Amino acid sequence: MRVGIGHDTHRLIEGRPLILGGVRIEHARGLLGHSDADVVLHALADALLGAAGLGDIGEHFPDTDPQWEGLDGGKLLADVLGLVYREGWIVGNCDVVIHAQEPKLTPHKPLMRTRIADLLRVDPTAVNVKAKTGERVGPIGRGEAISCEVVVLLLKKD
Ligand code: MG
Repeated sequence: MRVGIGHDTHRLIEGRPLILGGVRIEHARGLLGHSDADVVLHALADALLGAAGLGDIGEHFPDTDPQWEGLDGGKLLADVLGLVYREGWIVGNCDVVIHAQEPKLTPHKPLMRTRIADLLRVDPTAVNVKAKTGERVGPIGRGEAISCEVVVLLLKKD
Protein backbone atom coordinates (compact mmCIF):
# COMPACT_ATOMS: atom_id res chain seq x y z
CA MET A 1 0.00 0.00 0.00
CA ARG A 2 1.08 3.57 -0.66
CA VAL A 3 -0.47 6.84 0.48
CA GLY A 4 -0.32 10.23 -1.27
CA ILE A 5 -1.52 13.74 -0.52
CA GLY A 6 -2.45 16.49 -2.97
CA HIS A 7 -3.41 20.15 -2.64
CA ASP A 8 -4.53 22.83 -5.07
CA THR A 9 -5.81 26.42 -4.87
CA HIS A 10 -7.20 28.64 -7.62
CA ARG A 11 -8.51 32.21 -7.55
CA LEU A 12 -12.25 32.72 -7.99
CA ILE A 13 -13.08 35.35 -10.63
CA GLU A 14 -15.99 36.52 -12.76
CA GLY A 15 -16.36 35.29 -16.33
CA ARG A 16 -15.11 31.75 -15.80
CA PRO A 17 -17.04 28.48 -15.51
CA LEU A 18 -16.88 26.72 -12.13
CA ILE A 19 -15.84 23.09 -12.53
CA LEU A 20 -15.22 21.00 -9.40
CA GLY A 21 -14.59 17.27 -9.43
CA GLY A 22 -15.42 17.19 -13.13
CA VAL A 23 -18.87 18.68 -12.46
CA ARG A 24 -19.96 22.00 -13.96
CA ILE A 25 -21.58 24.05 -11.16
CA GLU A 26 -23.82 27.05 -11.85
CA HIS A 27 -22.24 30.05 -10.14
CA ALA A 28 -21.55 33.70 -10.95
CA ARG A 29 -17.80 33.11 -10.72
CA GLY A 30 -15.33 30.40 -11.67
CA LEU A 31 -11.72 29.46 -11.10
CA LEU A 32 -8.87 31.19 -12.89
CA GLY A 33 -6.18 29.01 -14.37
CA HIS A 34 -4.16 27.98 -17.38
CA SER A 35 -6.20 24.75 -17.57
CA ASP A 36 -9.88 24.30 -16.61
CA ALA A 37 -8.70 25.07 -13.02
CA ASP A 38 -10.56 22.09 -11.49
CA VAL A 39 -8.88 22.18 -8.06
CA VAL A 40 -10.41 18.84 -7.07
CA LEU A 41 -9.07 16.84 -10.02
CA HIS A 42 -5.72 18.65 -9.83
CA ALA A 43 -5.32 17.82 -6.12
CA LEU A 44 -6.39 14.24 -6.87
CA ALA A 45 -3.84 13.91 -9.68
CA ASP A 46 -1.09 15.23 -7.37
CA ALA A 47 -2.12 12.78 -4.63
CA LEU A 48 -1.91 9.89 -7.14
CA LEU A 49 1.52 11.01 -8.37
CA GLY A 50 2.67 11.43 -4.76
CA ALA A 51 1.57 7.95 -3.74
CA ALA A 52 3.33 6.42 -6.75
CA GLY A 53 6.50 8.49 -6.16
CA LEU A 54 6.12 10.21 -9.55
CA GLY A 55 6.53 13.89 -8.60
CA ASP A 56 3.77 16.42 -9.25
CA ILE A 57 1.52 17.64 -12.07
CA GLY A 58 3.68 20.74 -12.59
CA GLU A 59 6.49 18.43 -13.77
CA HIS A 60 4.27 16.38 -16.07
CA PHE A 61 2.01 19.20 -17.38
CA PRO A 62 3.97 22.49 -17.10
CA ASP A 63 1.68 25.56 -17.21
CA THR A 64 4.26 27.29 -19.41
CA ASP A 65 3.52 24.75 -22.17
CA PRO A 66 0.72 25.93 -24.54
CA GLN A 67 -0.32 22.32 -25.27
CA TRP A 68 -1.88 22.15 -21.76
CA GLU A 69 -3.87 25.37 -22.11
CA GLY A 70 -7.54 24.79 -21.23
CA LEU A 71 -6.67 21.18 -20.37
CA ASP A 72 -9.67 19.22 -19.15
CA GLY A 73 -9.14 17.99 -15.57
CA GLY A 74 -10.61 14.61 -16.50
CA LYS A 75 -8.07 14.18 -19.30
CA LEU A 76 -5.24 15.18 -16.96
CA LEU A 77 -6.44 12.70 -14.36
CA ALA A 78 -6.74 9.91 -16.96
CA ASP A 79 -3.16 10.58 -18.09
CA VAL A 80 -1.90 10.51 -14.49
CA LEU A 81 -3.84 7.32 -13.79
CA GLY A 82 -2.12 5.76 -16.81
CA LEU A 83 1.29 6.58 -15.30
CA VAL A 84 0.22 5.13 -11.95
CA TYR A 85 -1.11 1.90 -13.54
CA ARG A 86 2.14 1.52 -15.48
CA GLU A 87 3.96 1.41 -12.13
CA GLY A 88 1.66 -1.44 -11.06
CA TRP A 89 -0.72 0.47 -8.77
CA ILE A 90 -4.52 0.63 -8.56
CA VAL A 91 -6.62 3.03 -6.48
CA GLY A 92 -7.85 1.76 -3.12
CA ASN A 93 -9.80 4.83 -1.99
CA CYS A 94 -9.61 8.58 -1.81
CA ASP A 95 -10.83 11.26 0.60
CA VAL A 96 -11.44 14.76 -0.77
CA VAL A 97 -11.86 18.00 1.22
CA ILE A 98 -13.04 21.06 -0.75
CA HIS A 99 -12.72 24.49 0.88
CA ALA A 100 -15.20 27.00 -0.58
CA GLN A 101 -17.19 29.77 1.08
CA GLU A 102 -19.64 29.68 -1.83
CA PRO A 103 -21.47 28.23 -3.63
CA LYS A 104 -23.00 25.64 -1.30
CA LEU A 105 -21.51 22.34 -2.45
CA THR A 106 -23.69 19.88 -0.52
CA PRO A 107 -26.17 19.39 -3.42
CA HIS A 108 -23.29 18.66 -5.81
CA LYS A 109 -21.39 16.15 -3.67
CA PRO A 110 -23.18 12.99 -4.91
CA LEU A 111 -22.48 13.82 -8.58
CA MET A 112 -18.86 14.74 -7.83
CA ARG A 113 -18.45 11.44 -6.03
CA THR A 114 -19.84 9.46 -8.98
CA ARG A 115 -17.81 11.43 -11.50
CA ILE A 116 -14.56 10.97 -9.55
CA ALA A 117 -15.28 7.25 -9.08
CA ASP A 118 -15.84 6.90 -12.85
CA LEU A 119 -12.58 8.71 -13.60
CA LEU A 120 -10.66 6.54 -11.10
CA ARG A 121 -12.50 3.38 -12.23
CA VAL A 122 -13.47 2.52 -8.64
CA ASP A 123 -16.76 1.99 -6.82
CA PRO A 124 -18.34 5.24 -5.53
CA THR A 125 -18.01 3.87 -1.97
CA ALA A 126 -14.21 4.24 -2.41
CA VAL A 127 -14.60 8.00 -2.95
CA ASN A 128 -15.52 10.45 -0.19
CA VAL A 129 -16.19 14.15 -0.80
CA LYS A 130 -16.33 16.70 2.02
CA ALA A 131 -17.08 20.40 1.70
CA LYS A 132 -15.98 23.05 4.19
CA THR A 133 -16.54 26.80 4.21
CA GLY A 134 -13.77 29.22 5.18
CA GLU A 135 -15.79 30.55 8.15
CA ARG A 136 -15.64 33.95 6.38
CA VAL A 137 -11.96 34.46 7.23
CA GLY A 138 -8.88 34.29 5.01
CA PRO A 139 -8.88 34.09 1.19
CA ILE A 140 -11.29 31.13 1.16
CA GLY A 141 -13.70 32.73 3.63
CA ARG A 142 -13.69 36.00 1.65
CA GLY A 143 -14.57 34.05 -1.49
CA GLU A 144 -11.30 34.94 -3.23
CA ALA A 145 -10.28 31.34 -3.87
CA ILE A 146 -11.30 27.70 -3.65
CA SER A 147 -8.87 25.02 -2.53
CA CYS A 148 -8.88 21.27 -2.20
CA GLU A 149 -6.96 18.56 -0.37
CA VAL A 150 -6.99 14.90 -1.32
CA VAL A 151 -5.55 11.82 0.32
CA VAL A 152 -5.38 8.69 -1.82
CA LEU A 153 -4.42 5.10 -1.09
CA LEU A 154 -2.87 2.96 -3.81
CA LEU A 155 -2.79 -0.84 -3.80
CA LYS A 156 -0.33 -3.07 -5.67
CA LYS A 157 -2.01 -4.80 -8.63
CA ASP A 158 -2.15 -8.59 -8.37
MG1 MG B 1 -4.42 23.67 -10.41
